[in-house]
Amino acid sequence: MTVAPKREDYDVVVIGAGPAGLAAAATSAEAGLSTLLLDENVGPGGQVFRAISSTPVTDRNQLGADYWVGADLVRSLRASSAEVIHRATVWSLDRNLDIAVSVGGASAFVKAKRMILATGALERPFPIPGWTLPGVMTAGAAQTMLKSSALVPDGRTVIAGQGPLLWLLAAQILRLGGRIDRILDTTERGNYFAALPHALAFVTSPYFAKGLSMMREVKAKVQVVSGITELSASGDGQLASVSYVAGGKRETIPADLLLLHQGVVPNVNLAMSAGIEHRWDDLQLCWSPVLDASGNSSVAGIAIAGDGAGIGGANAAVVRGRIAARAAVEALVPAAAAKLAPMATLRSELAKAERGRVFLDTLFRPSPQFRIPTGDTIVCRCEEVTAKDVLDSVAIGATGPNQLKAYRRTGMGPCQGRLCGLTVTELMAQARNKTPQEIGYYRLRAPVKPITLAELAAVPKSGADVKAVVRG
Ligand SMILES: Cc1cc2nc3c(=O)[nH]c(=O)nc-3n(C[C@H](O)[C@H](O)[C@H](O)COP(=O)(O)OP(=O)(O)OC[C@H]3O[C@@H](n4cnc5c(N)ncnc54)[C@H](O)[C@@H]3O)c2cc1C
Repeated sequence: MTVAPKREDYDVVVIGAGPAGLAAAATSAEAGLSTLLLDENVGPGGQVFRAISSTPVTDRNQLGADYWVGADLVRSLRASSAEVIHRATVWSLDRNLDIAVSVGGASAFVKAKRMILATGALERPFPIPGWTLPGVMTAGAAQTMLKSSALVPDGRTVIAGQGPLLWLLAAQILRLGGRIDRILDTTERGNYFAALPHALAFVTSPYFAKGLSMMREVKAKVQVVSGITELSASGDGQLASVSYVAGGKRETIPADLLLLHQGVVPNVNLAMSAGIEHRWDDLQLCWSPVLDASGNSSVAGIAIAGDGAGIGGANAAVVRGRIAARAAVEALVPAAAAKLAPMATLRSELAKAERGRVFLDTLFRPSPQFRIPTGDTIVCRCEEVTAKDVLDSVAIGATGPNQLKAYRRTGMGPCQGRLCGLTVTELMAQARNKTPQEIGYYRLRAPVKPITLAELAAVPKSGADVKAVVRG
């Protein structure tokens, strides 16, 4: 049964039912504002709390206590008056706060007085030779299968990369009885020294003890090779082996499954397509929206909360959601804000939740060779464009990602640059001896998610729309 929004306009529309969106929607509904929460997944939870209402993994120790925090957030949301629609993919958002959402293959249009984008993070591309082979996937995809279906690897499995999620997934796979043959840790040795000045904030944050015990749990059961400087996957039409270099020595091991992960980055597509200003963040090596302390963006009426505002993790996402919602309530119905937690309290909670982040960003800074590929390594998976193709285009005059679209169709496939955008920016910056900020990013437009032409054609048209097309 297709559920469409009950109204055409809302005080607050929240996109994304991860920790930030769940908290934001519950907060604005609690203040008595008409609130709509839209999310493309079958149920609430976003990335971190994926399948929280339906997971078959019921032994709480297996996914870990942090996961089950999501159940409380969902409970608070369901207790509120917020209207929630799942399987709802938002494919357009403009400066007038008009939203187009596809639910069950039919598009609906709603208008908001205030928007909160809580569209979260995506895994950073990891373009190594052979990363497009069947049998190679991201750690996040494997975790999605684990959380939603309790599926774990049972063949020869290698996990390669770095970052908190890699260790969390490895621990979760082992707790569910899955198989991991080797972990290849690509954390650069120099990063440990670079991160030292930020260590105090980290060791006094909740991440330290949790991270340490998780790494110990995994290292007790799996061979971990650190200081990986080269990595590639090989096989004839299917993954057969993984080759790596550590300490100057190359080794090749057979593998049926290779899980890659080198951190997460803000999911910028909807925000950028709405015209929100983004800047290159050289600490997190990604594009981050330019926001004020309450998450308000360069487009009036649109705020961004959660990892879409810059990577901060699940705890920070919840507080950022509450701050953005409180700011919306203060703007729309100031008197109703009295019912909510004071902004000063929320800000100190956010500072606590973000404690240790700089240490993590510095320690888990992915190495250039794993971000900026060479030769025949595929950069754009949708259009099968290689690093050499990109450099050849630069050699004949392509100056940035948008010109490269014309030369090579990079970023024009189903993923709309989600899997190649960062790589293209950094590759062109390196080739042209410019900064990523100077090179820029793809110009993103609606639809930001694929919809069928039939659905577009079925969109209700006003007289003005028809006239515009006919006249045009
Ligand atoms: C694959 C993956 C797995 C992760 N697993 C963990 C974990 O186990 N533990 C942990 O601490 N952190 C994990 N993280 C980090 C995670 O980013 C944060 O911890 C946290 O989930 C961020 O919360 P958020 O509310 O900002 O966004 P998310 O939780 O990412 O939620 C954003 C939601 O918005 C939806 N959405 C995006 N665009 C649209 C659209 N156009 N229309 C409709 N819906 C849309 C997404 O599908 C998603 O449901 C993971 C990140 C990724 C990418």
